[in-house]
Amino acid sequence: MEQLLNLIDGELRPAVSGAWLDVHAPATGTVYAQLPDSDESDVEAAVEAAHRAFPAWRALGREGRSAILLRLAELIEQDLDGFVMDESRDNGKPLSLARRVDIPRAVANFRFFATAILHFPSEAHLMDDVAVNYTDRQPFGVAGCISPWNLPLYLFTWKIAPALASGNCVVAKPSEVTPLTAYRMSTLCKVAGIPPGVLNIVHGLGPKVGAAITAHPRIPAISFTGGTRTGAEIARVAAPMFKKLSLELGGKNPVLVFADCDFEEMLRTTVRSSFTNQGQICLCGSRILVERSLLPHFRDAFLQRVEALRVGDPTDPASDLGAVVSKDHMEKVLAYIDLAKSEGGTIRCGGERIHLTGDLKDGWYIAPTVIEGLGPNCRTNQEEIFGPVVTIQPFDTEEEALTLANATPYGLASVVWTKDLQRAHRVARAIHSGIVWVNCWMVRDLRTPFGGVKQSGVGREGGVEALRFFTEAKNVCIKL
Ligand code: NDP
Repeated sequence: MEQLLNLIDGELRPAVSGAWLDVHAPATGTVYAQLPDSDESDVEAAVEAAHRAFPAWRALGREGRSAILLRLAELIEQDLDGFVMDESRDNGKPLSLARRVDIPRAVANFRFFATAILHFPSEAHLMDDVAVNYTDRQPFGVAGCISPWNLPLYLFTWKIAPALASGNCVVAKPSEVTPLTAYRMSTLCKVAGIPPGVLNIVHGLGPKVGAAITAHPRIPAISFTGGTRTGAEIARVAAPMFKKLSLELGGKNPVLVFADCDFEEMLRTTVRSSFTNQGQICLCGSRILVERSLLPHFRDAFLQRVEALRVGDPTDPASDLGAVVSKDHMEKVLAYIDLAKSEGGTIRCGGERIHLTGDLKDGWYIAPTVIEGLGPNCRTNQEEIFGPVVTIQPFDTEEEALTLANATPYGLASVVWTKDLQRAHRVARAIHSGIVWVNCWMVRDLRTPFGGVKQSGVGREGGVEALRFFTEAKNVCIKL
């Protein structure tokens, strides 16, 4: 059985403890690899190596670092098939999705930040005849990066790339549930020319490895993407140490469908925004709010499309949905469907586990599920389910649509469907979320600020926001 290794100080090695954890394939429910069950001693070795590597990495300058990161992007792209297979096997997502989105996006993250750093400006502020101020943005040393399982390499590189480009060294932990592509990438680092200690990848459990990174006194900044509860725990530990924190957390995103929308485009996109990656994208719309006059037509057409989605073998190009990421997660999502029923919801389609046959008979598959008949305050419409489950609620006025949209503790993303430009602007301004898509979904420009409000997070990633997070600004004031 394949054994994955940590990348510490440029070497691939097992955990100091010698202990291993199992890695499961969601499609079959079987164990196919092991990862190091690391602990604080592995994190300590990684932090030491990162600090040793920092002066030379920083001194390499933007262009030197950029060239190395571009080489790494190139190497991942050359091994696209291998990465795609690993991502699909590890996560259960359709191979076609990993090929179209996950791996190309990981490559794009490196290319984007490797070139963005070349154009990252410093500001200067002139005070008439008194003085000139300039902003010196310097890397701070070692960044801690912790990422989740839903878009494994995509979100891992979204943190690592700006951290490295800015001149920091990194101690990173991918999700223990999906470690495979981070490991595959670690085998390319030497060939790419990343010096030992610059990028350290420590595998293992969140409460051990993640917690050790968060608490380490020599890691002054943590970039975390994951659940809101874990984010709160990280903030609790990091805040008294005055660490810089970027927290990208959960969501309960509304999709507002007004009767004047382009119906066909809305329908096609809403099926995608509901069920892409089995609904396991923080940006998926899980609460569909529909103007009442459109509701009967919407319901019929939407259910017809959702019932036609094929849940199946992730390697089959005909599969629209693959498996959800783990047995625990499947059970959590199914428990939410039971909760929706007990809260008085009507299951319009789906609502159960799907048992495939042959090798896939023990895989973790859930039918895409649509629920109606629940108000905004029940747990089903308040808590993040993070699976192939959406609810539909009607509204009569724009004001009511906004009240419903804003009626959760989350505020990550939202989608608005209308042809009325004035309304689009009004609604976009009034929605409590960090991201608003109007007449589209998941259209991503990597230069834009990315992040949420309320319990969806603190801080912004993307573009210059990420480069600012991974540097410390110092004002230098010189008397004229
Ligand atoms: P978790 O919060 O469970 O885990 C995220 C990462 O944190 C994992 O690597 C995990 O390790 C680690 N971790 C767990 N406990 C601790 C701890 N005490 N200290 C430090 N690190 C810890 O999230 P999931 O992996 O379940 O991901 C799903 C969540 O991520 C959803 O809520 C989703 O909305 C959110 N998300 C947010 C995004 C955004 O941009 N806002 C984007 C994508 C997802 P381990 O795997 O070993 O538990």
